Amino acid sequence: MPTIAFLGLGAIGRPMARRLAERFPGVVVWNRTAAVATELAGTGTARAAASTAEAVRDAEIVITCFPTSQDVVQVLDAGMEHALRPGAVLVDCTSGDPATSRLIAARLAARDVAFIDAPVSGGTSAAEGGTLTVMCGGNEAVLDRVRDVLAAFGSKIVHCGDVGAGHALKAVNNALLAVHIVSTAEGLATLVKAGVRADVALDVINASSGRSNASMNLFPERVLTRAFPRTFRLALLDKDARVAAGVAHEHDVPAPMLQLAADLMTSAHRELGEEADHVEAVKLVERRANVEIR
Ligand code: NDP
Repeated sequence: MPTIAFLGLGAIGRPMARRLAERFPGVVVWNRTAAVATELAGTGTARAAASTAEAVRDAEIVITCFPTSQDVVQVLDAGMEHALRPGAVLVDCTSGDPATSRLIAARLAARDVAFIDAPVSGGTSAAEGGTLTVMCGGNEAVLDRVRDVLAAFGSKIVHCGDVGAGHALKAVNNALLAVHIVSTAEGLATLVKAGVRADVALDVINASSGRSNASMNLFPERVLTRAFPRTFRLALLDKDARVAAGVAHEHDVPAPMLQLAADLMTSAHRELGEEADHVEAVKLVERRANVEIR
């Protein structure tokens, strides 16, 4: 059994760490707000560490799940890097950015620590059920060493390419999610104002070619009901869309749609605040159109 540390117990990190702790003995958890780690440790076999250095000191596999790659760098700078043991693997489940991940990987390689970027998709419910998709960048032989551990929370684990490939794929996926949320909101706002009920419109779109995960799941469950549960912060989707537009720019791909999605997410984030859920971006469209989609 490998020794495992998990750092970053946010909305998605918490259920991932819980599943790990249920399957592997002695998982060490750390969170910036310590009470969250203490609470998770109290429910099972995990142990809460008082510092990142204490968390990773004996770990063969270290898993991080922070908002951005800059947060990962901050944590490494603040004492974690020097505590990592040679031969360890850092698996970064943050939805980060490829360029920073390449820098992190080079920095860790000098200390004989391997790096895999391994962002996840599927949301908090898939994390709870252990059915996340994990998209990985880095050395495939290293990934094979940690696959069984990732399987505690992921049912589809895909090697996507070199370091940064997982982060690039995740960012593009989420930029598409942003496009679908905004475009579906614009379409439905138009139809409601044109006299078509939103549920009728969705019923038809979901049997037709304009459907998406947003139209099939997010709008019926979260918009029409006005429930807007907070599972994935809009601030994080803003970050992902901006990473995707940046990667397109870096590779000289003209991507006006991705750039527009990023700009709209930034506007929505500014207007709705740090704690708003990503689906609440719909409210920006509703406010501009002066109509509620229901
Ligand atoms: P949250 O905002 O819910 O949690 C963030 C976590 O990171 C908290 O534990 C927070 O600690 C910690 N943190 C934030 N900044 C720092 C820092 N500078 N140093 C140390 N710890 C820090 O985010 P999520 O859990 O939702 O998301 C985590 C990552 O997973 C993001 O990259 C996100 O894009 C991605 N993701 C999220 C999904 C979701 O459905 N929520 C789905 C797929 C990917 P504290 O408790 O002290 O605030």
